[in-house]
Amino acid sequence: MSETPYSYDAPASQALFDRAATVTPGGVNSPVRAFRAVGGTPRFMVSGTGPYLTDADGREYVDLVCSWGPMILGHAHPEVIAAVQDAVSRGTSFGTPGEGEVALAEEMVARIEPLEQVRLVSSGTEATMSAIRLARGFTQRTKVIKFAGCYHGHVDSLLAAAGSGVATFALPDTPGVTGAQAGDTIVLPYNDLEAVQEAFHRHPGEIACVITEASPGNMGVVPPRPGFNQGLKDACAKNGALYISDEVMTGFRTSRAGWYGIDGVKPDLMTFGKVMGGGFPAAAFGGREDVMAHLAPAGPVYQAGTLSGNPVATAAGLAQLRLLDQAAYDKVDAVSAQIQSLVTEALTKEGVAHRLQNASNMFSVFFTDREVRDYEDAKKQESFRFTAFFHSLLADGVYLPPSSFESWFVSTAHDDRAVQRIADALPAAARAAAEATA
Ligand code: PLP
Repeated sequence: MSETPYSYDAPASQALFDRAATVTPGGVNSPVRAFRAVGGTPRFMVSGTGPYLTDADGREYVDLVCSWGPMILGHAHPEVIAAVQDAVSRGTSFGTPGEGEVALAEEMVARIEPLEQVRLVSSGTEATMSAIRLARGFTQRTKVIKFAGCYHGHVDSLLAAAGSGVATFALPDTPGVTGAQAGDTIVLPYNDLEAVQEAFHRHPGEIACVITEASPGNMGVVPPRPGFNQGLKDACAKNGALYISDEVMTGFRTSRAGWYGIDGVKPDLMTFGKVMGGGFPAAAFGGREDVMAHLAPAGPVYQAGTLSGNPVATAAGLAQLRLLDQAAYDKVDAVSAQIQSLVTEALTKEGVAHRLQNASNMFSVFFTDREVRDYEDAKKQESFRFTAFFHSLLADGVYLPPSSFESWFVSTAHDDRAVQRIADALPAAARAAAEATA
């Protein structure tokens, strides 16, 4: 692998990355992990405890990625680990129904009123893919509305103008997705209700569903403007389409009941992942009972999974959800607010134009002086400043998402010591951002 100005001193990670690159495309199993947007050597992590990660070179970082959202209690939380060890000791997969699945579904349904039934799957991608299939089966329609900059996993039909890695790498489209798969997807600008109404007008009786991130975090954090989600719900109800709220990122993170707990707009279907899996591959989709009744074996829409509802994953997810009481959310919100003000303070002091945007405890920094309301706005930021900011923090032991199109995540484990480390690292990072050139 070539050296870049940003490789710093990470020889063990570099050696692993070189090994990985010979057996895995690009050396990683999920593109954003490769650091391509920021350059340098991706850190190979060997362990995590509370708010810290330790890499293969023995360096410790305050983690502001939290596995891209799931680790809301920090790494290796003792009660989650105990639940996992207990589950593992009884076997790792049975291919039969088990009580853990029921208990996890009950916990989710109890927290979110519109969630009448859920089906467990193994990834957020599976959840959104299955929700779209169910919406099409239920409505007997084909078209799907999605928003530019929203990412719903790597579902073929949803990769058009997607956020996350697709945004990071500025991929306009993905080879391998056929015209037929993409052709039924209508991509609209985020936060633009008129565009939604116009699309329903142009395609009467054809639109099966509108899918949106409940509050987007995959083009950086761009919350819905007041009334936007309600407007989507109303437009769907008026036109016989389903409103699908993708809560894979926000679910059980932004509040006890996810983003629904904040805006109260009732989706027809919802999708979940990340926090509900406690760091294991567990995800779900669910919603209205009459819609879910169309799912096999109750109904004709097929959906299945060998490892769906895996006993170890459900034990981890359930343990994590049970620990997430109001006090836990208050703690995450407070530490998030604290870090947000430290970031703004440091950048302001160096005169760096920026917008810090948040949705509850999710937040990100855009290097621009304008409010970011959609993907077009997000793309106008000065990403080269982020690169300098990122590498300065990394060198000082703070691990940010390696892209300016991603949310930052914190946990209940981010204590005063971890916050102090961030505070100590920020002045140099802000200076680096100020001095950066395109
Ligand atoms: N939906 C949203 C909003 C996401 O943020 C993601 C992943 O980041 C997904 C779906 C896909 O989830 P997974 O990566 O588990 O397939």
